[in-house]
Amino acid sequence: MKPGFVRVALYSLVALALAGALRFTPPLPDPERKPAEVFAVQAGQPAWKLRFDTLGKGESLQSLFKRGGLTEASAVRAVQAAASASLDQRRIPSGMPVTLKSQAADSSPSEITLQVAIDRLLHLHRSGDAWVGQEERVPWTTDTIVVVGTIVSNLYDAMDASGKRDLPDGARQQLAWSLADVYEYRVDMSRDLQKGDEFRVLAERSVTPAGAVRIGKIVAAAFKLSGSVIEAIHFASRSVSGEYFDQTGKSMRAAFLRAPLEFRRISSVFGGREHPVLGGWRMHKGTDYAANTGTPVRAIGDGVVVREGWGSGYGNVVEIRHRNGFVTRYGHLSRFASGVHTGSRVSIGQTIAFVGSTGLATGPHLHFEVLVNGQQRDPRVALRSAGGDPIPTAERDEFGRVKDQLIASLDTPTSGVTKLAQR
Ligand SMILES: [Zn+2]
Repeated sequence: MKPGFVRVALYSLVALALAGALRFTPPLPDPERKPAEVFAVQAGQPAWKLRFDTLGKGESLQSLFKRGGLTEASAVRAVQAAASASLDQRRIPSGMPVTLKSQAADSSPSEITLQVAIDRLLHLHRSGDAWVGQEERVPWTTDTIVVVGTIVSNLYDAMDASGKRDLPDGARQQLAWSLADVYEYRVDMSRDLQKGDEFRVLAERSVTPAGAVRIGKIVAAAFKLSGSVIEAIHFASRSVSGEYFDQTGKSMRAAFLRAPLEFRRISSVFGGREHPVLGGWRMHKGTDYAANTGTPVRAIGDGVVVREGWGSGYGNVVEIRHRNGFVTRYGHLSRFASGVHTGSRVSIGQTIAFVGSTGLATGPHLHFEVLVNGQQRDPRVALRSAGGDPIPTAERDEFGRVKDQLIASLDTPTSGVTKLAQR
């Protein structure tokens, strides 16, 4: 084999190993992974030895450096150099990838690279006995993508199926959460979706050369729910500071949130192996949300606490009276948030208590009710919203133009992920 071929092959291997280490942070590579060593040959240069290692759980940087061939004294100096080049030792992630580079003739490494964060590298260079550290920021580039998916069982699965090829796990989850946030006054993503419902999302995506992906702002979205479509358009102007409006120009923000738990808190299981909801509304005139004990419970609207305490089967319970006369009830709580007492004013989205299993509950979940004139009502009907404040008259034309352009971009014929041409 020609030396040139060996060089290319080895560099490809190194690039692959680095890309592998970078691509899936979180989670970082398995800390138990054995360090790998690679010899790289460059024509006319002394041969280099590269060692790929990861910081073990609870392990110090110093011990990793020593394992990589540094003497005790040199390891101490390398750690000092890292600290003076901005490395905060208390914030080093366990599993952090570390590359140590040494000349083949030299047993002690002369270059060390720490993958401090997905977009931050720290290089340490040795000359003689002295180590010098230098930080490198990895540049992100941003583009725009359209993701189209169809609900089979839930939003996570649909996002998984349509984004699997183009977006890493973390990015798909982030996109599902952001989409739920955009619709949080209109759609309870854990309860309202049905098989065949369809979403289209136009979102900003940032990527690094090594393949790390971060989802940015959702620019526009369309959700087809049981045949009717709710579009969401991000619009900013002189009087509107970046907010979502539906296709009729009404704010996506309304008087009530559709669910007392954030969608991202309901099930942390990505891929939806288990349906996150227990039981149905008709069975016991309430809605149950499965979530871990301690998950924050939020007031779905502004109001006054009219009950805070023990309510037999409900266990620890909070009731809030809202301006329109509705009362919302939150049961089986593990504890109440500080400052929440009978007579307290609470505002929409405020944490009022925490999920538990007090009272007649077999496992941790939130029992939620909406009462109108003292009678339990189906929240899907009681909380149905046609939207909040409309776009100011003077800006309707501008909104119309923005909307038409964004909705046209959303209307790609394919499913899955489509990268839009840069404009
Ligand atoms: Zn219940």
